[in-house]
Amino acid sequence: MTAIRTRYAPSPTGDPHVGNIRTAVFAWAMARANGGQFLLRIEDTDQARLVPGSIEAIYTSLRWLGIDWDEGPDIGGPHAPYVQSQRLAKYQGAAAKLIAEGRAYRCYCTAERLDAMRAAQSAAKQPPGYDGRCRDLASAESERRSQLEPFTVRFKMRKTGQTVLRDLIRGDVTFENALQDDFVALKSDGFPTYHLALIVDDTEMRITHAIRGEEWISSAPKHLQLYNAMGLEPTAFAHLPLIVGADRKKLSKRSGDTALLDYVRGGYLPAAMLNFLVLLGWSLDDKTSIISREELLAHFSIDRVVANPALFDIERLNFLNGHYIRQIETRDWEREVHDWAERQLPPSIPRPLDRELLAEVAPLLHERTATLGDIAPSITFLFGDEAPEYDPATLSEKVGGTSEAVRILDAALLALDAVDAAGWDKAAMEQAIRGLEGPLKMKLRKFVSVLYVAIMGKAQGIPLFDSVAILGRERTLSRLRKARHLLE
Ligand code: GLU
Repeated sequence: MTAIRTRYAPSPTGDPHVGNIRTAVFAWAMARANGGQFLLRIEDTDQARLVPGSIEAIYTSLRWLGIDWDEGPDIGGPHAPYVQSQRLAKYQGAAAKLIAEGRAYRCYCTAERLDAMRAAQSAAKQPPGYDGRCRDLASAESERRSQLEPFTVRFKMRKTGQTVLRDLIRGDVTFENALQDDFVALKSDGFPTYHLALIVDDTEMRITHAIRGEEWISSAPKHLQLYNAMGLEPTAFAHLPLIVGADRKKLSKRSGDTALLDYVRGGYLPAAMLNFLVLLGWSLDDKTSIISREELLAHFSIDRVVANPALFDIERLNFLNGHYIRQIETRDWEREVHDWAERQLPPSIPRPLDRELLAEVAPLLHERTATLGDIAPSITFLFGDEAPEYDPATLSEKVGGTSEAVRILDAALLALDAVDAAGWDKAAMEQAIRGLEGPLKMKLRKFVSVLYVAIMGKAQGIPLFDSVAILGRERTLSRLRKARHLLE
């Protein structure tokens, strides 16, 4: 049996988005789970869409996730180069051969003519597609004009019968050849289209399984017919399910499909992201939601990928991220807290930061942080004398009016002022603040929001009793007084 070889073949058109990186995860997992090889190939044939820096972003994204490749532009390999713009002669040779064998033809139609053709088709409510004007040019004439005019090379699709895709995930998918179109295989600038480059490269690089997004499924008949015309055995195909957002529509920027590197900057952990991405279409069984890299590589199989759309549920990602955060060892966690605080606390807070204070607050954060990006906003209030700025209206928002908020602040001031600096600890804070339930005739759950806003500038945050204990007597009382003052 030949070893499995898969590839990730991104186009360098910007920082890769999470939805696209999911394809890399599946192709990589399939190769690794089967003792095969995984390749990285850069598909830069659409020169107009290139974005500088994308290739670096692709490397950084994959490395961050722990995805390694056996052959690729940076490390080379037996089928180098792994960048399509450096392989043009191969595609041009393949196109010339197809022309010589009568399976492709030069097309001299100009962009203007093609536009007019499309407009007429659309006006007549006909399906779009090339009308075949250059399909039957005599070869001598075609040859002669090729010296004088620019041309594309179109593939002659078979227009009768059916083409059947045997998809590993979806089973057989049948396409009517009558609906197929003679597509451009080589553009007038000598660059191939995706279709031709795919066949040439997957063949030469000995890819066994083309794992790609569902958006390519309608192109599959082109690819199968090209393989056939070139006398080549096609790879197996697996079209991964669509990813949809909470609105059940194709994942978009708005529903979370932004650059993977945005998630890195937001404080997601690679283990959580990998776990999350692989569950977008695959599952280990019907119950396991936490899957380590090791388990993934031991158990991934394309048979358990489903065709139904996968829901991109950011809550699930946050849950997984929290789970992996809780696995971090105490020392490492303290380092994370320190690093993220250094990086993200407002520049007005003097550096270096108080390490002891950070170590004190680290355990409180460890229990409840969903993303590392939450660390700095949760602890800003501990630095400086004043609470972070807030809208005074938020003080009374949850307690039904200014007079209630005033009553709560007065009671809290009275109770906390009675605790002296020596006895100012978490237990004393808990006793004093819980003790307000009686006099206020109100549940802690309800009045606590006023204290949160006064102390932290927002209605929720890390545990209040600990926070007030860490903040200390003077700063706590002065913030409560200030809040009281704001309400007057
Ligand atoms: N360059 C294509 C893309 O970025 C690759 C599709 C494939 O994997 O064949 O979508």
